[in-house]
Amino acid sequence: MTFDELQLHDSLLRAVKAEGYTTPTPIQTKAIPHALAGKDVLGVAQTGTGKTAAFALPILQRLSAKAPAGGARPVRCLVLTPTRELAGQVGESFATYGKHLPLRHAVIFGGVGQTPQVQTLQRGVDVLVATPGRLLDLMEQGFVSLRSLEVFVLDEADRMLDMGFIHDVRKVIKALPQKRQTLFFSATMPPEIVDLSRSILTDPVRVEVTPVSSTAETVTQQVYFVEREQKRGLLTHLLKEGRIPRALVFTRTKHGANRVAKQLEGAGVHAAAIHGNKSQNARERALDDFRTGSIRVLVATDIAARGIDIDGLSHVINYDLPNVPEQYVHRIGRTGRAGASGTALSFCDGEERAFLRDIERTIRRSVPVVEDHPYRAGRPGPRPADFSTPAEKPERAEGGNRGGGRPASHARGSGHGGGNGGGGGHPSGQSRRRRGGRGGGRGEGRSEGNRMAQGGGGSGGNRGGSQSPRGQAPAQPRPAGVAAHAPAKAPEAPPPPPRRPSPKWF
Ligand code: AMP
Repeated sequence: MTFDELQLHDSLLRAVKAEGYTTPTPIQTKAIPHALAGKDVLGVAQTGTGKTAAFALPILQRLSAKAPAGGARPVRCLVLTPTRELAGQVGESFATYGKHLPLRHAVIFGGVGQTPQVQTLQRGVDVLVATPGRLLDLMEQGFVSLRSLEVFVLDEADRMLDMGFIHDVRKVIKALPQKRQTLFFSATMPPEIVDLSRSILTDPVRVEVTPVSSTAETVTQQVYFVEREQKRGLLTHLLKEGRIPRALVFTRTKHGANRVAKQLEGAGVHAAAIHGNKSQNARERALDDFRTGSIRVLVATDIAARGIDIDGLSHVINYDLPNVPEQYVHRIGRTGRAGASGTALSFCDGEERAFLRDIERTIRRSVPVVEDHPYRAGRPGPRPADFSTPAEKPERAEGGNRGGGRPASHARGSGHGGGNGGGGGHPSGQSRRRRGGRGGGRGEGRSEGNRMAQGGGGSGGNRGGSQSPRGQAPAQPRPAGVAAHAPAKAPEAPPPPPRRPSPKWF
């Protein structure tokens, strides 16, 4: 199918072509006709599939068909997103696709002063993109009315749940007119999200692409077995080989992100870290520097990287493997986007092998092992009780892992053992699958989400600095990657390469 066949207005087609899009992605092919017909849509799709255009294009067409009466400009479309980064990207998409249309949009989120946002709203906007907390604040203060709303988009619904925003989302929904079109997007469908979708969608069409368990065909995946304390050397080595033009590196913790970025800088590779302790400005600066190429490596935690969309990202590196297989799928989906090719490299230490097995089971394929590198880890075997150096001590996963750091061992199938820092019992299937000690369940998402989406109290806006999840201010330190040769310090004599279990077929 072509864009022309989607029955989009010429002004939208021109904008899309100017972006270099030649054919609609599967989610666009499937969702756009129904959305244009005014149907409610349940889209099961993750970022990277082109879902933003799948809802933005039909919305722009609908809104431009009927100009607001008498110069008034009520909000006619609301897009709710879990993070400010995603809100910004969705806002940019509306600006890009709607550049030939006389429509206005605004993006509002917490953690910054509300005055400019209020001023924009007062001038009138057709499309409002918002994170839930700031939206509720502004609604309560009477700056936003949703009485004239025609289309509601809930983006990344599962992430809203993970970040603890579901109650805010429900509150916003209560304020929407009953008669409306609703477009609902989620990468996964845990039971609470199924319930939510049922309660807000009317006779929806379900469209689904790239189930979360399937990794993009265009992403080449490889795993390196390496001891934890050798990961740093391996990363520097790979970056210095010169085959990696740009990389997004994932660490489990904020401190880990800082440390890796600093080490890379020390090794002569321009790098920066982004995570929830960074100020909004620092995060934006790091992202801009990465986009423009002035830094080569961006080191991020999962939550901070959520929604980040960098065109042409060649490599994703999992410095730490995630304990939630879906997280792996989300991470590697940052590369190989919209048909481009990409590479995902994962470092796996002895304690992460169980994570790797879970990932392989989820993606239904074995990840090829790179045997030929100077930091190969030894055959898995008994490990000392604690072999970490002070700098490599276990830490909490970003957002607060009350269960402590890495488990001493990972008994397969134990799932929620004593180390599950998130308070256990997370209603979503995803959290239930988290392994003890690492993830931190609900708490992980909440604190980061509070900072990112609703932010640190800003000037005004947030409710009086109470203990409200939306009222807490983040700290702001700032951290910092490599280039072409053997590591400065030779790796210790590498033990024999690990023996991989023979390929598994699921
Ligand atoms: P999204 O899933 O909405 O975050 O989009 C992921 C990326 O795909 C963005 O960089 C879009 O600009 C890009 N994109 C969306 N639709 C298309 C398309 N039809 N052809 C090529 N790139 C696209």
